[in-house]
Amino acid sequence: MAPGNREPARLRIALVPLGEPAGHQPEGEPTGRSPGGEVDSAILSALRDDLAGIFAAGIELYPSVPPGQKHFVKERGQYLADGLLEDLSAIVSEPGTIPLGITAADLFSPGMNFVFGIANRGRALISVFRLRPEFHGEATSPVAFRRRVLTEAVHELGHALGLAHCEYPGCVMYFSNWIGDTDRKGPGFCYRCARALERRIATGG
Ligand SMILES: [Zn+2]
Ligand SMILES: [Zn+2]
Repeated sequence: MAPGNREPARLRIALVPLGEPAGHQPEGEPTGRSPGGEVDSAILSALRDDLAGIFAAGIELYPSVPPGQKHFVKERGQYLADGLLEDLSAIVSEPGTIPLGITAADLFSPGMNFVFGIANRGRALISVFRLRPEFHGEATSPVAFRRRVLTEAVHELGHALGLAHCEYPGCVMYFSNWIGDTDRKGPGFCYRCARALERRIATGG
């Protein structure tokens, strides 16, 4: 059969909150940094709706799962992002479904003081910890927060689907070194990345 006659592959994204149950404090939290707590349910449903507007995908919101405590590094008050990312494969096992983990806790990766998110082929993870305007001493803004969460989620999902970083500062695939980069670029793909993404999805990633 010619490729053009095939049913288009339907992308599926599983939105997985990695939430710490109420009252939970990782042991020996020395920095005063919030260990996270549950991810706010309003931002989860907003993200689900916003992602559906960007990816032609079925998006399923999973029940909250506690983040693996073996990945919590007491001295830093942060979770090792790479560890939580790995764990997503065991939580979402349906073939062809890309897990997007979302946590309210702060994340780091070797060689980086913090990361907004991380991804590899087929898996993505973001933290909302540094996306809250209050974290940066800014006035509370649900609109700005929602846009930042969407931007980071789209960026990491782009990586999970095989896209690399883009050199165009207005493209969501541009690397965010600080929150100002995230605010400037927003959640939209440049023309080139949008075309590349279409090809990835059409060929199954
Ligand atoms: Zn990136
Ligand atoms: Zn781009």
